[in-house]
Amino acid sequence: MTEPPRQTPVFRFAPSPNGRLHLGHALSALINAEMAAEARGRLLLRIEDIDLTRCNQALEQAIYDDLDWLGLAYERPVRRQSEHFDQYRTALDTLIASGLVYPSFLTRGEVKARVAAVEENGGRWPRDPDGAPLYPTEERGLSPDERTEKLATTERHALRLDMEKALAAAGHPLTWTETGDGARGEVSADPAAWGDVVLWRSDAPASYHLAVTVDDAAQGVTHVVRGLDLFHATSVHRLLQHLLGLPQPVYHHHRLILGPDGRKLSKSAGDTALAALRVEGKTPSDIRALIGI
Ligand code: GLU
Repeated sequence: MTEPPRQTPVFRFAPSPNGRLHLGHALSALINAEMAAEARGRLLLRIEDIDLTRCNQALEQAIYDDLDWLGLAYERPVRRQSEHFDQYRTALDTLIASGLVYPSFLTRGEVKARVAAVEENGGRWPRDPDGAPLYPTEERGLSPDERTEKLATTERHALRLDMEKALAAAGHPLTWTETGDGARGEVSADPAAWGDVVLWRSDAPASYHLAVTVDDAAQGVTHVVRGLDLFHATSVHRLLQHLLGLPQPVYHHHRLILGPDGRKLSKSAGDTALAALRVEGKTPSDIRALIGI
């Protein structure tokens, strides 16, 4: 019998050009490179620039400069999310056609005020795995006329996934395969923990969840290697893959580099920025030593 052809594993590093790369990004990029090399796979780079207000060209160029300095070899051309809004829209339209999406109108301030009112009275408002309050679900039930009226009179709206309907459409509990530093094996997805996630905003053409799910499939990614801070988000990605009929990659969520305050590094963590360390005279091998690779 002949062996089936080997599917080449495809990895990706997917930074957002909304700040300088720091040690946490270096860890993620280098783990991806190491795992891709071990698997005799390909390594892609994706520029996650859907947030047009926070991302810019200079920061994108800085990503290329930092990665070149680190010695990261990735394939060209690079995928830039801002060039694929039509694909996100097509995926969104599929979910809309399945009746799983509704327009929502409450502002962040309005939601915050409601949460505060409940919590000040000793009540509990459900929160997502990142600690953000879940969006109220009452607009799921607006009538077509009420929706039309609100769309005409409200400046901004978002399109959200009706989580209850989406779970019913999925029909059975979902899992994903995890090989990372936290749980290993088949992990139960819990998308309901995120409530009615945003898929699109009138001022932002696609949400992170929708774009990342569409991109991983469009790029044929077989192994998603990223920080443990995105572990729980995988539940939403798994659900969207299922609803959109997309293949599911294997996931590997790796340890995070924490700052002196014990929190994950942020884009503003100036002294851990690769560019700042380079100016200080650090070499790429110093960076590897600093992050324990
Ligand atoms: N763009 C995300 C970030 O910079 C990573 C998304 C992902 O790897 O799925 O944190």
